[in-house]
Amino acid sequence: MIKDILRLLEIQDIDLKIIQLKELQVSLPQTLESLFKDIEAKKKDLADAQKNLQDTRVHQKNIEVDVDANKQTTIKYKNQLCQIKSNEQYRALVKEIETLEKKNTKLEDTILDYMMKAEEKQSSVKQAEENLKRSEQTLSNEEQKIKDRIVAVDNEIKELLAKRNILKENVSPKVMNVYDRTIQHKQPAVVPIHGNICQGCYMKLTPNDVNEVHKGHTLICCDNCVRILYYIPDHG
Ligand SMILES: [Zn+2]
Repeated sequence: MIKDILRLLEIQDIDLKIIQLKELQVSLPQTLESLFKDIEAKKKDLADAQKNLQDTRVHQKNIEVDVDANKQTTIKYKNQLCQIKSNEQYRALVKEIETLEKKNTKLEDTILDYMMKAEEKQSSVKQAEENLKRSEQTLSNEEQKIKDRIVAVDNEIKELLAKRNILKENVSPKVMNVYDRTIQHKQPAVVPIHGNICQGCYMKLTPNDVNEVHKGHTLICCDNCVRILYYIPDHG
């Protein structure tokens, strides 16, 4: 039995490694995926920032067109002033000109506001460009490494399984069955006892079980956690 146990411990080492590697088989592609998603998000941020800047510039341009139109009208009205005969019409037109000029002063302030906004938005665009560049750099640094690691993990699992198959040949099928069933639910599945305590669940074992584990002639499992128990004086 103790020989079976020693081989089981080797198999268990392999199985625990395989379990970790299988977790990597899941998480590595997820990591890669998240790098691609990050770039998509950064591209969207950049497009949003560019659209924002563009909108601001369009608003600014529209107001500039209004200001120009008002200026043209003002010039036209000023030219008309000298041809007006009636005082009343003259005053009305002067008032009209004043109104247009006041309006333009306000509009020019608004243009200044938009120019300042455009400057802020321009720096947001620059920031978004830098963020995208950084994400692309991260992907180009990591992509191949992760892909290589995925291949390496697959190969490592294959090698470990081959090793496991060889070791398995030298364990009695009955013991192997019990082990295979247990490792699915309990990792580790093979644990030592210290004194009369199972080192899997830390519960007390019956004196009879402790005795049998010490003898090492039959397969003894913990009554509480069903793990396979062993005792090796060096380890015990
Ligand atoms: Zn136990």
